[in-house]
Amino acid sequence: MPGHRGPAFIDGEIVCCLFQGSRVLIARDGGGMPQLPRLDARLSGLPLKTAQYLGRLDGRHCYGLQLPRGAEPPAGLETLGLRALILEGNDLVSALAGQAFQLLEWERTHRHCGACGAPTTSHAADRAVECADCRIVYYPRIAPVMMALVYRRGELLLTRKPNYAPGRYTVVAGFVEAGESLEQCLVREVKEEVGVDIRNPRYFGSQPWPFPNSLVVAFSAEWAGGEVLPDPDELEDARWFSINALPELPEPVHISRQLIDDTLARLRS
Ligand SMILES: [Zn+2]
Repeated sequence: MPGHRGPAFIDGEIVCCLFQGSRVLIARDGGGMPQLPRLDARLSGLPLKTAQYLGRLDGRHCYGLQLPRGAEPPAGLETLGLRALILEGNDLVSALAGQAFQLLEWERTHRHCGACGAPTTSHAADRAVECADCRIVYYPRIAPVMMALVYRRGELLLTRKPNYAPGRYTVVAGFVEAGESLEQCLVREVKEEVGVDIRNPRYFGSQPWPFPNSLVVAFSAEWAGGEVLPDPDELEDARWFSINALPELPEPVHISRQLIDDTLARLRS
């Protein structure tokens, strides 16, 4: 159950998304799956009053916090990169750790007002910080990214960047620009990256991606014309693949893969 106002009095067992730099500290259950550590609020010695409160999980208060510099992490925990944790596929743990990381990054980069430079303080009502001097309010930043899977009869248009794993292809994606609607961004991104026109955009779903603050909005769209011309500044390759001879695809935790699987199911039916 999400929330951003923590209890006035903190006692008993709490759940922690605990970070040391950009790495998260996790426990393992009997089956080896990652779990968020449960700690005794008072014995943990953690500064919970200044932590990001995330809500309740199984009746316990849940916090995201950065381990103070030089502090020893609680015993028995494993340190893991956030991407590695997400790839392990425990959706609830990944979602909470991702949310905590995003909030902690926002907090770390908004300690001072961007207009006048005065220190910021917590906003009285919202999850936000406020300039103590000129009263500007800063909310957590979220950057929308449009994702498009272009298809035509029996084929998907997939792309790869030079830094992808060997043989792996995925869908088109790019940041929404100021003043642009999601639909306009979809058309522009596809045209810029692969040179084709689209029609019939169809919303599939969305996924927060905390590196550092993206919200991926995924659509499929039908090819409406044009030859594939990959943007050489961004892509190593882009081409049509038969749905019966697809290259290596992203892992199932990525919404790009879920979008591809959903579109394939519709094209095959
Ligand atoms: Zn200010």
